[in-house]
Amino acid sequence: TFEYSHAFEYPRVLSIAGSDSGGGAGIQADLKTFAALGCYGMTAITALTAQNTLGVRAIHGVPPQMLRDQIDAVIEDIGTHAVKIGMLHAPETVLTVAEAIDRHALQKVVLDPVMVATSGAVLIDNPAVQILVRELFPRALVVTPNLDEASLLVGRPLCSEADMEAAARELLAMGAHAVLLKGGHLPGDLVCDLLLTKNGAAHWMRAPRIDTANTHGTGCTLSSAIAAHLALGATLLESVEAARTYVRAALVAGSTVRTGAGSGPLNH
Ligand code: PLP
Repeated sequence: TFEYSHAFEYPRVLSIAGSDSGGGAGIQADLKTFAALGCYGMTAITALTAQNTLGVRAIHGVPPQMLRDQIDAVIEDIGTHAVKIGMLHAPETVLTVAEAIDRHALQKVVLDPVMVATSGAVLIDNPAVQILVRELFPRALVVTPNLDEASLLVGRPLCSEADMEAAARELLAMGAHAVLLKGGHLPGDLVCDLLLTKNGAAHWMRAPRIDTANTHGTGCTLSSAIAAHLALGATLLESVEAARTYVRAALVAGSTVRTGAGSGPLNH
C-alpha cells in the first residue's frame, strides 16, 4: 500500500441553488462548472424544479430546516472557500441562507439574483425580492443580475449602457459591495457587461455576440465560474474575466449541439 506524505486538498465551492431536472441550469450547471475548473463542488438545494429545455413545469421548495441541515452538514465537515447562491424561491429561504452565511462566517459569496427563467417562469416569490436585497446584498462579495433582473430591482426599463451604469450604482446603494450587470439582453453585435465596485471605476467588458439559441443556464454557469475562480485564489476582476471566457467557450461549444426542442444548454 502507498500512503501520501501529505493530503491534497481541492479548492471547494458550495452552491446554494435550485435543481434543474433538465440538467442545463441550477445546481447541475454549477457542479459541471466547478468540476471543469478544478474545484470540488457541494450543493445545498433550495428547490426542485420539474424542467426541460422548453420550460419549468413545477417548483417544489425545500423546507428551511432541510436547507439549513444541508449547509450545516457540508460546512461542519468539508468546509468551503467560496459560495454561489442561485434560485431562492421564498422569503424564508432567503432568511435561512442569510443566517447560514453569518453562522459559518462564509466568505467569497457570489449572489446570482435569479428571478425569471428565459422561458418566462417566475423563480422567486414577489415578497422574497425585497428580503433578498435587504438580507443578501450586503452579505455578498458580488451580485450578478442580468438586465431584466436589474430592471426589476430598480423599477424601470434599462435600454442603454448609460442606463446600465446608473442602475449598477443604485444596486450598490442598496448594499451590494460589487455589481456585475450583464448586458447580454441589450440589442447589438457586441455584448457588454459592467463590473462596478464600491470604490472602483466602472469596468466595461465587451465581446462579440455568439449566435446561438442554446443559452439555458448561462447565468448559473457564470456565477458558479466566478465562485470557482475566487476559490482558486483569483481577485474579483480576474474571476469575472475568467468566468466570462469560460461561459463564452461553453456557448460556442454548445451552439451546434441539439439537446431538446427548446433553448438548449451550454456544452461544458
Ligand atoms: N432553473 C433553475 C433551477 C435556475 O437556477 C435557473 C437560473 O438560474 C433557471 C432555471 C433559469 O435558467 P435560464 O434562464 O437560463 O433558462
